[in-house]
Amino acid sequence: MTIRTAAETCAQPKDSLDVIAAGLFRPMGVDGVYARTAIYEEVIERLACLISRQREPATEILRFPPVMSRRQLEKSGYLKSFPNLLGCVCALHGTEDEIRSAADRSETDGDWTASLAPADLVLSPAACYPVYPLAATRGPVPSDGLRFDVACDCFRREPSRHLDRLQSFRMREYVCIGSPSQVTSFREQWIKRAQRLAKELRLPHRIALASDPFFGRTGQVMAVSQLQQSLKFELLVPVRSEEEPTACMSFNYHLDHFGQVWGMRDEAGGIVHTGCIAFGMDRLAVALFCEHGLDVRRWPATVRATLSFG
Ligand code: AMP
Ligand code: ZN
Repeated sequence: MTIRTAAETCAQPKDSLDVIAAGLFRPMGVDGVYARTAIYEEVIERLACLISRQREPATEILRFPPVMSRRQLEKSGYLKSFPNLLGCVCALHGTEDEIRSAADRSETDGDWTASLAPADLVLSPAACYPVYPLAATRGPVPSDGLRFDVACDCFRREPSRHLDRLQSFRMREYVCIGSPSQVTSFREQWIKRAQRLAKELRLPHRIALASDPFFGRTGQVMAVSQLQQSLKFELLVPVRSEEEPTACMSFNYHLDHFGQVWGMRDEAGGIVHTGCIAFGMDRLAVALFCEHGLDVRRWPATVRATLSFG
């Protein structure tokens, strides 16, 4: 097999990332779920450090596990918007005999899963959901607002053979809770910073107004409303193709949605607004390898310096 250069690879239309996949991932038997190689993880870690260096002062750092409270996610309204993407943790419940006979069915008719029942956990679909109920327990939001730096392994049920659409991927987020003007200026600042970072990493990119992939017919109405109110922007990188660029970061304004859901108020009793900046860590890493090639020693010197490669 001829190994193409990264630039040639990225110019290919379909499944073009398969060529670099061999250097970055190992199969685990399911599309969109991969073991990651050492060099890929090194780039992920260096990207994480680069993002940490951009952290605003007075930002609280929290790292979440890959699961969260099912009740909290339900209350956040996730099932209205993206029921098709959600993964719920299920387990065998009951007495020792019931659990044993269910488990033993894996060796007879194989259908042990019929006895599964949902637990009180879901797989986190984004890093910021657990932060709002947590912030709500802290009492009134101070006048200069709250800032969080959060991250977790996320799950979305969207199996695909494309390396930029994983079922299990890492998300890092900066979150702002405060007045509408605090949240909008936080987002504007971050859109500027993100463009500077993409430039330093020499990733071709553009910022575009975007909507979330809301589920079903009512979802289409939600998407139009989101676009009309300019609630979501994305930093797009032509990883697979120019026509279908990949969203590597998103800049989201939730208005007072999470403020209302969790009863988060300012000192004067008004409902607060929230926004988040999400970095798709795996998409950023894949984009870097796609743009600069598999051999990080041959990446442009300025990109290596930005990522603090020695
Ligand atoms: P979203 O909440 O959809 O704006 O997602 C936040 C960020 O996570 C996006 O900007 C992507 O970079 C990343 N992301 C979303 N879905 C996936 C996926 N299926 N695979 C890899 N990264 C993803
Ligand atoms: Zn978020």
